[in-house]
Amino acid sequence: SAKSDGKARSQIFHAQMDIDYHYRQRLKADLREALRHGQLTLAFQPLVDIGTRRIVSCEALTRWNHPELGLVAPSTFIPLAEEMGLISEITEWVVSTATSQCSQWPGVVSVAVNISARDFRGMDLEAVIGRSLARSGLDPARLEIEVTETAVIEEHEIAKRLLTALAAKGIAIALDDFGTGYSSLSYLHALPFTKLKIDRSFVADIASNEKSKRLLTNVARLGRDLDLIVVAEGVETEAQLNVVLEQTQVQQVQGYFFSRPLPARDIAELIGRLNAPRRMGRANRRHG
Ligand code: C2E
Ligand code: MG
Ligand code: MG
Ligand code: MG
Repeated sequence: SAKSDGKARSQIFHAQMDIDYHYRQRLKADLREALRHGQLTLAFQPLVDIGTRRIVSCEALTRWNHPELGLVAPSTFIPLAEEMGLISEITEWVVSTATSQCSQWPGVVSVAVNISARDFRGMDLEAVIGRSLARSGLDPARLEIEVTETAVIEEHEIAKRLLTALAAKGIAIALDDFGTGYSSLSYLHALPFTKLKIDRSFVADIASNEKSKRLLTNVARLGRDLDLIVVAEGVETEAQLNVVLEQTQVQQVQGYFFSRPLPARDIAELIGRLNAPRRMGRANRRHG
């Protein structure tokens, strides 16, 4: 009957909630040790310049390979780390590891790290970044900080002070997942952003839906009008890339079409291969 169906569904629902609850409790119990024992690693995903087709930056994305539970998604463990007050330690490890890796890549490629809203209060981010840059010898202009709309709105005053100090050192400041948070645009020029990363939900339908295409075009124009470098996230197919190329003022793309996030060793190899000096085409070689 409908009534017993409902009851069965509700039991399944509650059983699932218990599993989720116990899973999260288990992860919380293990996360601190995971950080200390090297179970966290960084994957790097390239941002490709549309004009040159070269990798200009790589985003550091934290991975947790749990010895018994397997890969845990950052969308699961980052919020847990925030709840536990562990996020600042993770951020410190990310900044230190990412700058050290980046300093070993061939050529001049930047590295981007994600900052949580909690980091604005929970740590001296400026000091942590300063130490990592000094240790790695990385030019500050090769470091990018990614923050979300939600984070800068929750911590507006402190975020403004910190991001302004970082920008003054030449560090790039990106607004991540643009379009998914609060729709207030006032912070766009109140804060020292240098880059706008348009969320992948704006890219998903552009190859099949005219309205989606126009929306992306206009969001990209907004970014360009504010003198920001505009990035399209989540480009998965050639059809999407073609729309981005033909219809928008986007300068950089990130997504599975060019590469998934890769382990450190593989990203260095990919940068070496894609950014290697290229031979000119026939027409250009005639005089050379
Ligand atoms: P994000 O900063 O927006 O990072 C981009 C996410 O989109 C990554 O997911 C990446 O794997 C995924 N992605 C890239 N290209 C494509 C694509 O073409 N299609 C699809 N469907 N997805 C794509 P990931 O690695 O699972 O990270 C999810 C989120 O977790 C990140 O979103 C970021 O908010 C957070 N995160 C990851 N690492 C860290 C970290 O070290 N610190 C903090 N605070 N947050 C992190
Ligand atoms: Mg990001
Ligand atoms: Mg993003
Ligand atoms: Mg995202």
